[in-house]
Amino acid sequence: MGENNVIGENNMIGGNTVNSLQPVQTTINGHATAAEPGLRPRRMRISPALRQMVRETTLSPADFIYPLFVRYGEGERRPIASMPGQFQLSVDELAREADSVLELGIPAVLLFGIPPEKDWCGSDNFNPHGIVPEAIRALKEAAPELIVISDMCFCEYTDHGHCGIVNSPTVDSYNASLPEGYLLNDPTLELLGRASVVHAEAGADIIAPSAMLDGMVAAIRGALDGAGLAHVPILSYAAKYASSFYGPFREAAESPPSFGDRSQYQMDPANRREALKEVALDAAEGADMIMVKPALPYLDVLAAVREAFNLPTAAYQVSGEYAMLHAAAANGWLDLEKCALESLTSIKRAGADMILTYFAKDAARWLAGKQ
Ligand SMILES: [Zn+2]
Repeated sequence: MGENNVIGENNMIGGNTVNSLQPVQTTINGHATAAEPGLRPRRMRISPALRQMVRETTLSPADFIYPLFVRYGEGERRPIASMPGQFQLSVDELAREADSVLELGIPAVLLFGIPPEKDWCGSDNFNPHGIVPEAIRALKEAAPELIVISDMCFCEYTDHGHCGIVNSPTVDSYNASLPEGYLLNDPTLELLGRASVVHAEAGADIIAPSAMLDGMVAAIRGALDGAGLAHVPILSYAAKYASSFYGPFREAAESPPSFGDRSQYQMDPANRREALKEVALDAAEGADMIMVKPALPYLDVLAAVREAFNLPTAAYQVSGEYAMLHAAAANGWLDLEKCALESLTSIKRAGADMILTYFAKDAARWLAGKQ
């Protein structure tokens, strides 16, 4: 041990406990010599094999859930310009997709629907022959073991692009004390329950409500239980933020709001404690799994939720997170594979048990070393 170690004398080095995390340096006559021999973390980084042995977080295709956009029509495979490599698929194209997802070891998909027609109440969402119920049936027939998660919201189905019934003198549930255009909470809950039953009866394995309405989990749980579907779990988008990172998704799902935004129901990006409150409410209402969305800009929220609740926790790496990595890679500024895998690793490290990601198939291939 050097003469003037910067660690205090009470910290025993070289065989005994070191309590301090201060930098360790030995000095002789005021000149630095070498790191303290007992404290060389680089020893464990000397080879790929050693690094792998002590790695704390490992990604696997089994961590991923792959979001899919299903649209009306036949033989459709429409590229989504702002999300390279992602498509809107018609129902008949889904079977092919199901096979490739399963072959890569990805256990689950999440479905978003683009119906042929939109209306004031999003009726396609609770039509047993609507776009998503048809897609669920096609997927379960093609690949019964693939877990099909149904995103449960109304924004893809309403002509105004909001997540349920909006206040207007033209609707039965008009409330004159609320502003016109306000998303009506309780009348929408009833529709969410109804649509959830339709999707579950079509074969959805999990219902994933994403509207951020008060009481949505309880309403859906009640509706499912009442229809003899008590075995169908709920994955709640419990802490979903009013994020600008959803930009490309709006093109993909053809669901931009025709007026205003969603900040009256989705969370303020500035709030972390409120996320814990939202998750606590959803857990109390019977959510089986919970989600934080988006992922990368909200890793602190994800870590806090993981720490506070003993529920399987998902994080959604959203369209903007995907698009910006692609855009930077297309410019030659970032290595897509390395940055995408690093991003996914950070999401898992922060506490995600499941990651919803548009990179699911690519990442599975990268992890398998196929590309
Ligand atoms: Zn919505």
